[in-house]
Amino acid sequence: MNVLLTFDVEVWCNGWARLDENFPSAYERYVYGRSTRGDYALPKTLEILNTYGLRGVFFVEPLFAARFGAGYLKTIVELIRDAGQDVQLHLHPEWTDEISPALIPDSKDKRQHLSYYTLAEQTALIAGGKRMLLQAGARSVTAFRAGNFACNRDTFRALQANDILIDSSLNAFYDVSGSDLREGAWRSKPTVIEGVHSFPVTLFADGLGKHRPVQVAGCGFGELRDALNSAAVAGHQEFVIVSHNFELLKPNSSQPDPIVVKRFENLCQFLDKHRDQLPTAVYSECSVRDHSTVRALPRSGLGATFARHIEQLYRRF
Ligand SMILES: [Zn+2]
Repeated sequence: MNVLLTFDVEVWCNGWARLDENFPSAYERYVYGRSTRGDYALPKTLEILNTYGLRGVFFVEPLFAARFGAGYLKTIVELIRDAGQDVQLHLHPEWTDEISPALIPDSKDKRQHLSYYTLAEQTALIAGGKRMLLQAGARSVTAFRAGNFACNRDTFRALQANDILIDSSLNAFYDVSGSDLREGAWRSKPTVIEGVHSFPVTLFADGLGKHRPVQVAGCGFGELRDALNSAAVAGHQEFVIVSHNFELLKPNSSQPDPIVVKRFENLCQFLDKHRDQLPTAVYSECSVRDHSTVRALPRSGLGATFARHIEQLYRRF
């Protein structure tokens, strides 16, 4: 089973009111996350991956740089690329009304989700994002994830028009994801949509039976381990884990969150130890091979979910 360890990389300015004022410190936090204990945003994430010899896929959001300058995007792409990791495209169209020249004619109002845009608009936005990433030094752009997982069927058509034939946007946990594809086969397995190979974010049933997406910030290490093991036993061929450039940091701070850091290190150590059965991969090595089989939902034990609840309480106080 291929494990896709994915990171959505984005910069936010704490609202839209004072973008230019807030950007310099926001960029420092989201890209570097400097603290006396180290730089726990991208640099530490990349360092931990490379310490364990693992591969990650970094879905990088480029549109913010159309506002502040291409050099900021180039720095991010080079950090990831020079660490030997894979750069792919992430898109938050919330930026379309903040940038000039505009990428689409109707860019007056803020529209958050990609699914709110027409096919022609999505095609233009994805083309613009792809062009920016390539200009910033990405080797090739072959895979995509929509911001907030908010894709629809037109997103897949727009990806095909841009020769991006792999998508990892769909996330059955969120209603906004695949809003016009709700009953699709993708909810239970990877599938091909409009000619694009779709690898949805993996969901698992926690120890209490609740379905959850596999996200580093929201699952205990025991749950991640159990879900990985049970997915492999059930015959899943891909396992998509989500994280972000800022997940090792405490909320609204550049200080590392020791619990999440430990969890991420435990996960990487586990994947290193089990690299024969659970190799980390990039999307270009994956294809939708078996269209017919629905595999059992991965699950975690009650003990692992209980341990996560204890961690959450500990983090809160
Ligand atoms: Zn995002």
